[in-house]
Amino acid sequence: MSALTLKNVYKAFGDTEVLKDISIEVEQGEFVVFVGPSGCGKSTLLRVIAGLEEATAGEVHIDGKLVNTVPPSKRGIAMVFQSYALYPHLNVANNMSLALKQEGVSKAEIAERVQEASRMLQLDDYLKRFPSELSGGQRQRVAIGRAVVRQPKLFLLDEPLSNLDAALRVSTRLEIASLHKQLDATMIYVTHDQTEAMTLADKIVVLRDGRVEQVGSPMELYNKPANKFVAGFLGSPA
Ligand code: ADP
Ligand code: MG
Repeated sequence: MSALTLKNVYKAFGDTEVLKDISIEVEQGEFVVFVGPSGCGKSTLLRVIAGLEEATAGEVHIDGKLVNTVPPSKRGIAMVFQSYALYPHLNVANNMSLALKQEGVSKAEIAERVQEASRMLQLDDYLKRFPSELSGGQRQRVAIGRAVVRQPKLFLLDEPLSNLDAALRVSTRLEIASLHKQLDATMIYVTHDQTEAMTLADKIVVLRDGRVEQVGSPMELYNKPANKFVAGFLGSPA
């Protein structure tokens, strides 16, 4: 079943058209990476899917339902941003459970979900710590944990590793891959980094200047790039 369908989506800010006729299909459980250079519209596309920006034209379907007029909180999505913005005065457990408390989820259920998410993300030993007592990688895992406890149908991750140093980028990338397997969740992951795209994706969507340039598996794009841009971007000899 289709977890996400975009049909001829456009987004303009004033006279500037940032997304131009984007059509994409994402299957349930797929790990899809949107890759493209800085400024090509990746974040805008995620924000349109999340409902943080309204599409100027076109349709966004999540789980088979047209959601163009559905507010972000009712779309069944959870988003992880590049800057993790944890609450500094709350410990790890409370950072993860805040949204659930606000939604009125029971204490027992919250405890269970936080425990499971922290086990998956290897944060069990850090639940009582405050953000200032964590490494950058641990903080980003807490930010991911905050999304996991909400049990979304669709995860949207916007360059979640870009604030981390090289070593932490590798280990956190592996954590995300492992999380995807354990949750059997649908994930859409935005990056401008070829290695992340090639190693994480079931399917890569290459974006350029607000358009879809090519869609395919990492191997398809590597072996049969549609043009020099894709070849150059994904690092195969053109
Ligand atoms: P990426 O995430 O791929 O780097 P963005 O989606 O952030 O790209 O931005 C794509 C283009 O849209 C850029 O030229 C950016 O300046 C423009 N843009 C993004 N958000 C806005 C906005 N709120 N108002 C005007 N222009 C914007
Ligand atoms: Mg961006």
